[in-house]
Amino acid sequence: MFIADLLSRFYLNFPESEGDDQWISETVHTLSKNLSISDAKKLEFIQATANDPVLSKVMFYIINGWPKRNELMDGSIKYYYKFQAELSVEDGLLFINHRLIVPDKLRFYILRLLHEPHFGTVKTKQRARQIVFWSGMSSNIQNMISNCYVCERYQNAKQRDLLIPHEIPNIPFYKIACNIMDYAGNSYLIVQDYFSKWLEIILLKNKTSSEIIKHLKILFATFGIPNTVICDNMPFSSFECKNFSKEWNFQFCTSSPKYPRSNGQAERAVQTAKQMFKKCSYDNIDIHLALLEFRNTPVSGIGIPPSQMLMNRLTRTKLPIHTQVLKPAIPKDAHKKLLAKQEYFKRNHDKNAKNFNQNLKTGDNVLIKDQFWEKGQVVGNHSTPRSFNVINNKNNVVRRNFSQLKPTNTKFEINNSSNCSNDHDQTQNMDRSSDNTADNNLETINNQTTCEIDPSNDPIPDSNIKQNNSGRIVKLPNKFKDYFM
Ligand SMILES: [Zn+2]
Repeated sequence: MFIADLLSRFYLNFPESEGDDQWISETVHTLSKNLSISDAKKLEFIQATANDPVLSKVMFYIINGWPKRNELMDGSIKYYYKFQAELSVEDGLLFINHRLIVPDKLRFYILRLLHEPHFGTVKTKQRARQIVFWSGMSSNIQNMISNCYVCERYQNAKQRDLLIPHEIPNIPFYKIACNIMDYAGNSYLIVQDYFSKWLEIILLKNKTSSEIIKHLKILFATFGIPNTVICDNMPFSSFECKNFSKEWNFQFCTSSPKYPRSNGQAERAVQTAKQMFKKCSYDNIDIHLALLEFRNTPVSGIGIPPSQMLMNRLTRTKLPIHTQVLKPAIPKDAHKKLLAKQEYFKRNHDKNAKNFNQNLKTGDNVLIKDQFWEKGQVVGNHSTPRSFNVINNKNNVVRRNFSQLKPTNTKFEINNSSNCSNDHDQTQNMDRSSDNTADNNLETINNQTTCEIDPSNDPIPDSNIKQNNSGRIVKLPNKFKDYFM
């Protein structure tokens, strides 16, 4: 430390001005000589700089001396005035420190070069700041990248949006969730009531609409016809199911294709049913006994069993129970407790979520999340929250949740050469006759008589297992299953 201090006081006294000038001149000379561009391109830069009304003036002032600041009338030139100590001219090119000042005419060319690897805004700006300079460079870079379709196409999924909780009715069996579950080679219709959490596990012979309708009729004959059935697209959006809902005066409300999280209640019911099957088969217990116990066990966070909430009474099980307990009794504050529980989960979830602007309008260009972000355009609002009907690059009208859409400046053009037959989205021109095929015209999508009859060929989501952006399989927490997300 003493030595360093000593040396700092006894430095060699070189003639200051001469040495500095020489050093600057050499550095700048090396820079222009070493500009890694062809001679032709360099000439283009020299000519463009000479013809640039601002840069040619700046160059003139560097060579001939700057006037006083208040004598400069042009704001663009004033901008360079403050950097005069750092500016230099070499071979007809303008530099600021080690950075080439790019004439207006060639900025687009440089921007394109800078963004060739399609790095993000921050990285591209950092790279640019190493080598080039012009007034407004940062905003030009920002603008270019925000308009780059390649970058948008491969962008990650959006951050999770705030929860929109499903409305919980204050009467039992008014709103139910349905889903199809495959387990151990069998298919089951899983039904759960939004109010009471009453669970049904019904073995199906097949997954056709007629088989499902047959069982729903039996269920409705017992508990009444619900007002709303929340379900996934297949096969509930079939022509047959649609007719059934019209005849029986209720509505099917399907979740957004590729976004089954909005049918969380049904997905959670499937998880519960699967767990029940696994444990029962391990312990060799009759699934019906387990189901009976489930219906008589208080719902967590509510403290009231489904049977009590649905039928105002507990049902008799194998457990010894006093007959007094089996007498009907109306549960207190069930709806209030359900709302409080929902609010609690929403608060927790929203801590790490963001409120996205959902004001998409018809005609807006959007990117649609598929494997990558694909081009599309909004053709209308959907009747369910956060859902929109959009036309994709295969010329098909599809329904998507807002989280699967992103406003873009990229113009949408209809791709006439595409082949719709391989599309897994619902389309306008798909066959509407088969049982597992959706009714797919735009008029139907816009029909408001049912909550949702926008079908898709999307496979029925097996569970709450999802794939994240990196392709990794992730499991969503069950507690969020009651929400649109
Ligand atoms: Zn890009």
